[in-house]
Amino acid sequence: MAIFLKELLLGLYLLIQHDYYRERLMALQGGVPLVLFAGMFAVLLVALWLTAHIRSAPVRYLFALLFFASTLFFDVYTQVSAEYLTYGTFVSLIYSGGFIDEALYQYWASILVCAAKALPLLFGIALAPRRRLPLPGIALVAAPLCALLLLTGILFVRGGVGARGLPAMYTPLAYLNLFAYEAASSTVGPREAVSLPRHGQAIGNDIVLIIDESVSGNYLDINVEHGVRTNLGQSPPGATLYNYGYAAAIANCSADTNVTLRYGGTRSDYLRINSTMPSIWQYARKAGLRTVYIDAQRTGGRLQNLMSKSERKEIDEFVQFDGTPVRDRDMAAAQKLIELLGNDTAELIYLNKIGAHFPVHDKYPDDFMIYRPALPRGQYADISDTGERDGFGGQAEDWGRYRNAYRNTLLWNVGEFFARLFARARLDNAVLIYTSDHGQDLHERGNPGLDTHCGGDPVVEEGLVPLVVIQGHGLHGLDWQGELASNRNRSSHYNIFPTLLQLMGYDLTALQAVYGKPLSLHTEDEFTFNTRFNARLGEKANWKFIDLNEVVKPVLQ
Ligand SMILES: [Zn+2]
Repeated sequence: MAIFLKELLLGLYLLIQHDYYRERLMALQGGVPLVLFAGMFAVLLVALWLTAHIRSAPVRYLFALLFFASTLFFDVYTQVSAEYLTYGTFVSLIYSGGFIDEALYQYWASILVCAAKALPLLFGIALAPRRRLPLPGIALVAAPLCALLLLTGILFVRGGVGARGLPAMYTPLAYLNLFAYEAASSTVGPREAVSLPRHGQAIGNDIVLIIDESVSGNYLDINVEHGVRTNLGQSPPGATLYNYGYAAAIANCSADTNVTLRYGGTRSDYLRINSTMPSIWQYARKAGLRTVYIDAQRTGGRLQNLMSKSERKEIDEFVQFDGTPVRDRDMAAAQKLIELLGNDTAELIYLNKIGAHFPVHDKYPDDFMIYRPALPRGQYADISDTGERDGFGGQAEDWGRYRNAYRNTLLWNVGEFFARLFARARLDNAVLIYTSDHGQDLHERGNPGLDTHCGGDPVVEEGLVPLVVIQGHGLHGLDWQGELASNRNRSSHYNIFPTLLQLMGYDLTALQAVYGKPLSLHTEDEFTFNTRFNARLGEKANWKFIDLNEVVKPVLQ
């Protein structure tokens, strides 16, 4: 019996964690992925067993402690958050500052339980081996190192993904290797303070960035004949409206676009900039602006679009509409914006609207059901956005109804939103920039599928967004008109962050060197969007050019 003590202890450890491994096994459902997974699992397990037979006691103790600490980290995170520890989360944990103190204090009970569960692993490796394996000592020491290197390599190629369900004691150690690589190549690091010089004043009053949700540029009357009425067709009282026509989005997913709009990532350097450079809030505060974030999509203080708790602290006023039905949230946002524009305080206001994300069945009131036949009503009234597609068939007829419901939604959440804003807001001392996070695939070509955006092989319309600037008459803002004709239908989201910095009075030459061109200059933009945004480590971003000749002109049916 004693001769199998190590095997028993290691087996016991795996048995205690069986839920985690079984879950992954169930999700794989056979085939090649299952074979590859099983092969990798076996390699890691054999390496673990060899580790337990290392002859030098100090070296064996060292590995025992490393694996013990690693699995403890993994298990505590899983238990506390009820989520799988991804590489991205691992990196944020490292940078979330002093989290170890806080975790020790808050989660000591979980840590004790997890430590007790990991003891069989610790002793399974550390105890003196009762048998001598017929292998050279150096091979035994090399085994865990090679296994770890192999796992690290696989994760590297796959951008950090692929360790789920594999023996957990390797995962944080492999993440640590990836992290060391990224730190050495400066794509991760502590966030920098603002260092750009300012030589001008920020414009007189508010700077407002309005990010709509899933509003495709080719459904709006400012860009196409028979488009949905937006009320952006002419300048509102007290201000001049500049329509930049079609613009390219940053990416075809909400979070990717929003995090880049908040941090200013460029096409060539967005991973580094988004994770290590100052946020738009930091720049705004440095320029003397109060910072306001209005999130019409989420409630209860929940953060989204890759906003962290530390970024949240840079926001002076954080607004969500907890008691307001989804249908009325954009109107509540308009009301809030009217108040902020009239409060005589210079502010940066960043608004995430409800817009027209799936489901669009119930995002507009009955009075706005102008386009028919639309999707059936009444089942999605409380849902801001979802990945579920229950009750939506995805046939040509369903998509016809979808497009009509989408138009009705735009009529309300875009047209009525701006009608109310323009009727009551003080616009003379503000600059507003309006765009959407990404466009939509509304399956006008009859292509199959249920999704509207965020896929890996998108249609051009998924990256096609509106871009409008509204500047009040009472301030010395930027010269938009000068390059309007050359920038129209040729600019992108990537030009917005530098525009915001220029409005805040940051030095034009200095800001361009880091963030590229603002809309006040000839943008010479590439007019592409990123279809593989999470391209860290061994992966490369994928840029899709928007050929405007390819863009569908929606027809009414
Ligand atoms: Zn979105």
